Amino acid sequence: MPRFFTENAPQDGYLTLTGEDARHIAKSLRMQPGDELTVCDGDGLDHGCVLDQVDAEAVRARVCTTQPSVSEPHTRVTLYMALPKSDKMELIVQKTTELGVTDIVPVLTARCVSRPDARTLEKKIDRWSKIAAEAAKQSGRGRIPRVHTALSLEEALAAAAQADAALLLYECEREHGLRAALTARTPHTVSILVGPEGGFAPEEAQQAQHAGLVSVSLGPRILRCETAPIAALACILYECGDL
Ligand code: SAM
Repeated sequence: MPRFFTENAPQDGYLTLTGEDARHIAKSLRMQPGDELTVCDGDGLDHGCVLDQVDAEAVRARVCTTQPSVSEPHTRVTLYMALPKSDKMELIVQKTTELGVTDIVPVLTARCVSRPDARTLEKKIDRWSKIAAEAAKQSGRGRIPRVHTALSLEEALAAAAQADAALLLYECEREHGLRAALTARTPHTVSILVGPEGGFAPEEAQQAQHAGLVSVSLGPRILRCETAPIAALACILYECGDL
């Protein structure tokens, strides 16, 4: 059954889709009143709907059933990703969306080579948001992970530390592995902070630990900055029973 996403909640038992989704339903899929579709809202709820009115400008659907999306993980993982070079962020957004990430926050750290101006960054975030939407649709997610505006390290640490488990993926960590950080108690919210190609400066790692993040290793091998978040997210969701 076709799946569409909306940020709006049902009004009086109906949902309305406009823009690209309405055009796709009316023109590409040629759906008619009476046809069924699933509309997922931003809170991870799946609404089973029947089309009521269809035209290329706006489509109205009557909500018949509402249930929590079975494809959303119970564990909400936020990825704080130091801005990597070139188009690596596109791969990171696509793969972590497929796996089940909840939010993605670009972070500017000391060793980020890529330092786009505000306008360029805004365009990149738009592109990454589109990639997240496509990957969410392809993988049957119940919601589209949000790609946030970029934060400084200080801002990211303050936000990341709010999670039940706030993890610094630190390439110089040799003692603590990922599993130990998770088995203490099964967290509902997890933050992971990942460095850029050049890694974290020692003072940044200290700053993160002072902010309350736990430094964890992904093993003795150094992973690329685009591999580390994908591997860590898969391990976390597996350990929490979401994979
Ligand atoms: N330039 C660093 C070096 O040579 O040691 C490597 C940085 S690595 C390419 C990019 C990021 O991936 C790191 O900052 C860290 O967040 C994460 N990462 C890579 N390998 C890791 C590991 N074995 N344990 C923990 N984090 C790792």
